[in-house]
Amino acid sequence: MKFELPQLPYSLDALEPVISKETLEYHYGKHLQAYIDNLNALIKDTPFENKKLEEIISASDGAVFNNAAQTWNHIFYFYTLSPTGGGEPKGKLKEAIDKKWGSFEHFKKEFSQAANSLFGSGWVWLTSDAAGNLSIEKESNAGNPITRSLKPLLTIDVWEHAYYLDHQNRRAEYTKGIWDIIDWGKVEERYTD
Ligand code: MN
Repeated sequence: MKFELPQLPYSLDALEPVISKETLEYHYGKHLQAYIDNLNALIKDTPFENKKLEEIISASDGAVFNNAAQTWNHIFYFYTLSPTGGGEPKGKLKEAIDKKWGSFEHFKKEFSQAANSLFGSGWVWLTSDAAGNLSIEKESNAGNPITRSLKPLLTIDVWEHAYYLDHQNRRAEYTKGIWDIIDWGKVEERYTD
């Protein structure tokens, strides 16, 4: 079974002005497509060919891992964003954030600092463990916390290709704006699922 580029649940210009149509044309249309194409070529006629993406990520390394994890990470990232996003988390997720970081504002500050200070390319994640405890995790390159049995709830892509067309080298501008397009309903569902 070949992996395919999933349709986005919004149009390419829907996340403006936070993320431009041009950035999504490249980031979703070219970069994600390339990871999927590479993965399909790499796993053809191998034991990974009919495996689920999560199974491939957990069992692979090298180029297969990189392209499988980048495929998973990008789909997760794009599906966490929404033109009607923003605001604050509610319910059990809000309670867990308040318990861990004192307030949503303090969590946002810590998460942004983690994103802005990650050296080179990678991903910053909000995860929960089996007991529901939250943590902020920094991962280099294609890293994904499911390889450490943590459940991803939210991620920000801090590879330069995620923001360079809109902000050039100013990563902090990008990570500041992204709070306006986070779909907290999705993050809450993942937490209580
Ligand atoms: Mn990316």
